[in-house]
Amino acid sequence: MLRLRSVLSLLLVVVTTLLVSCSSPTVKVPDTYTPDRISQIQTFMVPVEEAKEGMATLGKFVKDNNWIDTRTYIHGPFGFLRRDLTYLANTLLPSDKAQAKDLIDEIFSHLERLDAAAKENNVAISTSEYRNALSDFDALLDLVPAEASAS
Ligand code: ZN
Repeated sequence: MLRLRSVLSLLLVVVTTLLVSCSSPTVKVPDTYTPDRISQIQTFMVPVEEAKEGMATLGKFVKDNNWIDTRTYIHGPFGFLRRDLTYLANTLLPSDKAQAKDLIDEIFSHLERLDAAAKENNVAISTSEYRNALSDFDALLDLVPAEASAS
């Protein structure tokens, strides 16, 4: 009995040691951007920088109460924006990725509400939803490492 117990506890030590040594490399999460990752982010930033200029164009339509162009812009040029922003979010560090995805959801719920308000010619709601979308877009760009952003 005593012998079995010591064998069991020895086995437990072996198993624990194996688990620790096997799991530690996979548990390790990168916490810095490698040069490779930075150049990958730069590639994904190209359409996102364009979309940032697109946000300014959209802002002009909203300011002019040009609801037709506002809605056309959201459905046209911004049609691939969610995909482009998601590609970018997936290249960020794990600690920033979840926040980036929340911000992308935020941007699109503001754009949906802007679209609905523009349809109703609602100046106040269109203006505030546009501003909220823009500030969430800026917050998303703030998560991008400085080395990878063009501006
Ligand atoms: Zn928001």
